[in-house]
Amino acid sequence: MKVDWLIVGAGFTGSVLAERIASQRGQKVLIVEQRDHIAGNAYDYYDEQGVLVHQYGPHIFHTNMKPVWDYLAQFTEWRSYYHHVLGIIDGKTVPVPFNLNSLYALFPTYYADKIAQQLVEKYGFNVKVPILKIRESASSGDLKFLADYIYENVFHNYTLKQWNLKPEELAASVTARVPIYISRDDRYFQDAYQGLPQAGYTALFQKLLNHPNIKLLLNTTYQEVIEEIQYQKMIFTGPIDQFFEDQGYIFPWSAELPYRSLYFKFFHTEQEYKQPVGTINYPNEYHYTRTTEYKHLTGQRVYGSTYIEEYPQAYKRGENIPYYPIPKEEYRTLYKKYQVEAEKLKDRVLFAGRLADYQYYNMDQAVARALNLFDQL
Ligand SMILES: Cc1cc2nc3c(=O)[nH]c(=O)nc-3n(C[C@H](O)[C@H](O)[C@H](O)COP(=O)(O)OP(=O)(O)OC[C@H]3O[C@@H](n4cnc5c(N)ncnc54)[C@H](O)[C@@H]3O)c2cc1C
Repeated sequence: MKVDWLIVGAGFTGSVLAERIASQRGQKVLIVEQRDHIAGNAYDYYDEQGVLVHQYGPHIFHTNMKPVWDYLAQFTEWRSYYHHVLGIIDGKTVPVPFNLNSLYALFPTYYADKIAQQLVEKYGFNVKVPILKIRESASSGDLKFLADYIYENVFHNYTLKQWNLKPEELAASVTARVPIYISRDDRYFQDAYQGLPQAGYTALFQKLLNHPNIKLLLNTTYQEVIEEIQYQKMIFTGPIDQFFEDQGYIFPWSAELPYRSLYFKFFHTEQEYKQPVGTINYPNEYHYTRTTEYKHLTGQRVYGSTYIEEYPQAYKRGENIPYYPIPKEEYRTLYKKYQVEAEKLKDRVLFAGRLADYQYYNMDQAVARALNLFDQL
């Protein structure tokens, strides 16, 4: 087979690039995807009970990038949705990220009043202040108590479960981001555009890839077909370290880039709803980090409900799925060595996406990355 572009991976990165190249440049694209479906980790489907579920964990689209939202709107109607997350802390169900409502849900009113007043006076209203910043600037008193309380009860154990690392072992940029939101806004995201594709993500991808210039091979790794395909250029959206290994490169510094994996346990209940909001976090109890009930996200009206428990686990190549790059400086440094090698191949192979850039991207960032790369082509 002869094509202009061989694209490895049918997630957001690969599919958006395929769509752009096919529709704007009129060139032929072959997408090769090792899974038996399109949409990468955003894949959704109707389970046996007819409930629309996300196979790889809850995906809520949120962005401040209007061009990204508008671009995808060509392929889907949007269902407006604001994600709400509750955390179980000291037996109480409180909004997370921690905000003023969480404060009042946990502490006696007079004490919550006192802390809220200090927070607003010191930092202002409607601002997100990193817990670590509060911890550093308050050496004693109520704000120090609050910062320590959140760190111990919300952040520390959740981080341990999620990464199997203590917060201080993660890149400072990650821990520095965990905020107290001095606001009454309980929404998990504050972006200007939030929602889910009305008919689901997979339906969105079907439209995205529905172009005569795009051919798709599922259940196929690119290594299986590379000898038979004539192509000008490849776009690779899989793990960058694996690419070099598969191609037989051995560098003196070669090593696997580590990831965190997840295991999802699915449950169905006859109840209309199992929990009051889309996601409940369990920072301290149980082995799972969170439960998500899909009907809240999708707005689907159907008998019964499906929810998942999410268990973080170690990633082992070939055994489970690489979900999250581990946010530690040493792995970023290792990735950069691969990036230098990738640059040398740029006339023939381009690398982009969550796995190839070894970078956690939200969906909007993955789309923006693909659109920017297309602009550079
Ligand atoms: C649990 C979880 C929850 C998330 N929730 C959100 C959310 O709420 N909101 C949000 O914005 N983002 C969320 N994300 C992030 C979102 O999933 C990513 O932004 C998006 O999937 C990135 O797309 P991608 O194309 O770069 O990668 P992927 O979706 O991973 O696509 C890469 C594809 O390449 C294929 N591939 C890899 N190697 C090969 C090979 N050798 N041959 C053939 N195919 C190959 C893979 O099978 C995969 O399908 C979440 C991620 C996870 C893990």
